[in-house]
Amino acid sequence: MRFDLKSFQFTDAERAPDALAIVAADRSLTWSQLRDEARAWAGEARRHGVAPDVPVAVYGHKEASFFVAMVGALLIGAPFVPVDTIYPAERLRRIVEIVRAAAVYDAAAGAFTPGEGAMLDERGLAYVMFTSGSTGDPKGVQIGRESVGLLGDWMLGSFGLGDAPVFMNQAPFSFDLSMYEVFATLASGGTCVLNAREQIAAAGTWIPRLAEHGVTVWVSTPSFAHQQLANRDFSPAALPTLRTFLFCGEPLPAALARKLRQRFPGAVILNTYGPTEATVATTWIEVTDAVLAAHDPLPVGHAKPDSELLVDEGGEICIVGDHVMRGYLNRADLNEAKLYIYADGRRAFRTGDLGQMDEKGLLFCRGRMDDQIKLNGYRIELAEIDEALHGLPGVEGGACAVLRRPDGTAVRLIGFVAGVAAADSPASLLAPEALEGWKARLAQRLPPYMVPSELVACAALPMSNNHKIDRKKLIEIYTAIPM
Ligand code: AMP
Repeated sequence: MRFDLKSFQFTDAERAPDALAIVAADRSLTWSQLRDEARAWAGEARRHGVAPDVPVAVYGHKEASFFVAMVGALLIGAPFVPVDTIYPAERLRRIVEIVRAAAVYDAAAGAFTPGEGAMLDERGLAYVMFTSGSTGDPKGVQIGRESVGLLGDWMLGSFGLGDAPVFMNQAPFSFDLSMYEVFATLASGGTCVLNAREQIAAAGTWIPRLAEHGVTVWVSTPSFAHQQLANRDFSPAALPTLRTFLFCGEPLPAALARKLRQRFPGAVILNTYGPTEATVATTWIEVTDAVLAAHDPLPVGHAKPDSELLVDEGGEICIVGDHVMRGYLNRADLNEAKLYIYADGRRAFRTGDLGQMDEKGLLFCRGRMDDQIKLNGYRIELAEIDEALHGLPGVEGGACAVLRRPDGTAVRLIGFVAGVAAADSPASLLAPEALEGWKARLAQRLPPYMVPSELVACAALPMSNNHKIDRKKLIEIYTAIPM
């Protein structure tokens, strides 16, 4: 059986209905069980006001019911809004408020909490994915049903995943990377093995769990795979069915790709690139030995079918196609700035990524034009952290800066606050007691990966000539602090 991403119905019911569709953290479901549970869930959701074009927030981590709810919402035609438990309650509350969801479905409890419930202006959305926003609030990326259909076609047509792929899912469902596994499992009739944070942390049993279910496709950020290299079980002997590494979400370092080629000589490594705003990814390339010999940094590949890539005069990568979002929810200002209609009438998105394309259309990413960063694969707008720091009691101004490795990858966030300490010196690290209290406050609003590791009190925040926070100067201030 599989789930058709054009009709949004289960189909091929006679084909292996007893094969596993979902191996979740708590329980497993065969395809016929997934179909029956998704239909039952849709019935209940309708009773809670979930309807076509009326969104439902789905809250949880890696429960089978989280997956069931997403499929149930697709059956109804209600956009789902995935929110992982990594997000604090305040962020969930804001998301539900912004999207005016009919209900929040708690996947662990199996219960609905009623919300406002309003029809969205955009019709026929598959999901709304919230990413970090520079105004201090997360912003909702609206992805149409046509876009996920194209995602499924691309993955099954171009990635060589085989007949019934078994996906390793680890990224939170609130990170759009995970939509790779969700939609490719549905479209192919394969299996998705969901891995909770606690399961991954239990190193001795985690890899055997993946082996037991015959995982064939590893989907993660490069950072996550890099962490696994220290685990000796992360090997072809322990994972004999693993055929493909599918990466997205941040630069794939050539050194990591080399190490993976050595350790898994029989596996295919795919580097893919794209923002949430263009349905997971837009480019792909198989990182072969020849590609590794020719390039460092690695290219991110060529445009997927039915899409077009441009690098404009300013060096910004623009993406064209029906997989480009319908827009940010209720953010006409941002839509005006980031979206346009291309010459052929299709939607186009200005990514904010700098790029270079060779004469054969091979794309290279060259960093960002703005203050959006990636930390361990998580997308972060520094301005959102600035706002949260500014909101701390007694603080007159807040800003955040990033410590980076020599290759440019982000290692740590440092927060800066002005107006707190009796600043007789230009800057000082805050005492651990004070820091702890502030961390807890920030964690009420921000997910843990956005909470700075250290806080520095400064007399004043350095500003650049155009009255923006001078983040380079902040790092200079930090490195000058006597330890
Ligand atoms: P997200 O919306 O979380 O997927 O983040 C998208 C951003 O991550 C892109 O705009 C890029 O800045 C960066 N990114 C994603 N994939 C890659 C890649 N393969 N190589 C370099 N940067 C990437």
